[in-house]
Amino acid sequence: MKPLPYGRQDISEDDIRAVIEVLRSDWITQGPTNERFEAEMSRYCGAGYAVSACNATAALHLACRVLELGPGDTLWTSPNTFVASANCALYCGAGVDFVDIDPRTYNISVEALEIKLESARRTGKLPKVLVPVHFAGQPCDMLRIRELSKQYGFSIVEDAAHAVGAAYRGDKIGSCRYSDITVFSFHPVKIITTGEGGMLTTNRSDLHEKLMLLRSHGITRDKSRFMGEENGGWYYEQIDLGYNYRMTDIQAALGVSQLRRLDDFIMRRRQLVARYNEMLSGLPVITPWHHPDGDSANHLYVVKLDSERTGKSRNEVYNALRNEGIQVNVHYIPVHTQPYYRKLGFKHGDFPVAEEYCAKAISLPMYSSLSVEDQDRVVSAVHKCLT
Ligand SMILES: *Cc1c(COP(=O)(O)O)cnc(C)c1O
Repeated sequence: MKPLPYGRQDISEDDIRAVIEVLRSDWITQGPTNERFEAEMSRYCGAGYAVSACNATAALHLACRVLELGPGDTLWTSPNTFVASANCALYCGAGVDFVDIDPRTYNISVEALEIKLESARRTGKLPKVLVPVHFAGQPCDMLRIRELSKQYGFSIVEDAAHAVGAAYRGDKIGSCRYSDITVFSFHPVKIITTGEGGMLTTNRSDLHEKLMLLRSHGITRDKSRFMGEENGGWYYEQIDLGYNYRMTDIQAALGVSQLRRLDDFIMRRRQLVARYNEMLSGLPVITPWHHPDGDSANHLYVVKLDSERTGKSRNEVYNALRNEGIQVNVHYIPVHTQPYYRKLGFKHGDFPVAEEYCAKAISLPMYSSLSVEDQDRVVSAVHKCLT
C-alpha cells in the first residue's frame, strides 16, 4: 500500500491552468500576478499591506531587518518551532533566546514570558523582537502578548507559517491587530502552497515601504527618495543593503488559485481533526487541545503519548507506525537542543516543557486531500501500535 505522508500539497486542475496562463504571459518573475496575490492576501487577512517573498525564512529575515534588529539586540521565540523562527535573528547579527511552551497548547507560554520579561528588565536584557509561533495552526494568546509588548517595549512578528486561514477572537491571523508583522509560508506541506513562497502582512506603511525596498536589493526607482541627481529614465539608486527575495509570478499564480480554495481546505482539515479526536479517544494518547479564543488552521495533528497509560516509548510507536506505511513525524526538536544552538550556549534542560513534549509527540497524517479511507488506515495502525 502507498505510504501516507504527514502532510502534502493539494493541487487542482484549476491551479495548474493558472500557472500555465502565467507561463504564456509576458511576465514570469515578480510582476502583476504578485501584486494580485498580495492584494488578495491582504484582503483575506484584513491587513493594510501584504508583501510576497521567495519563502518564509526570507520573509522572517526581512521582518527582522525592517524592525532594525541588529548586533546587541535579542529576539525571543518558542523552542517548539522550525529553526527558521530563530535563525532570522542570527542573520542580522542579533542574539536569540527562547521562552518555554504551554503544556496544553504547545505554543509559547505567556506566564513564562511574563516571568522572563520581568527578570530581563532587571538585568537590562529585554528583547527587541518577539516571534510567537502559531504552532500547528493554533493562534497564540495574542491579546496578552500585545499587552506585554506595550509594557516592555518589544515588537511582535507572528510566525504564522502554520496558520494561514486561522482566526483569533474573530480576526483572521495576518490582520496584525496584535502585532507589527505576520509571516506566512507556502511550502508544499503547509496549508496552501506556491512550491516555495512566503508572505508578510502589516498595517504599518513605514514597514511596508522598507519591506518592498529590501526584498529587491535595496534599490528604488522612486524619485522622491533619490539622494543623487537623476539624469535619465534608466536611473535607479541602491539606498540600503537588500536581497533578491522575490517570488516569481509563476508561483504567485499558484498562490492566487490556492487562496481561493483556502476556506475549503480549512473546513476539510477541521472535519479530519474531529474524526481523529473521536476515533482515537480511549487510546493512551493526548489529542490536540484547542483554546476557545482561536480557530486553528489545523496544519498538524499532533498526539502526545500518555506516558502513564502506555508502556511504549515514542520511538517504538514512531517505528511501528512507519513500518505500517504511515509516515509520521516529530514537530519539533526543540531549537535550543540543535548542535548549532548548543554551540551558542544552550543545553538540554533549558526549556523542560518543550523537551518533555517533544519526547512524546507524534504528528499523524493531516492534509486536505487525505481521504476518509486513508484516515481509517492511520487510525487502525495507531490502534494496532498502541494496544
Ligand atoms: C515552514 C516553516 C518556516 C519556514 O518556511 P519556508 O517557507 O520553508 O522558509 C518557518 N517557521 C515555521 C514555524 C515553519 O513551519
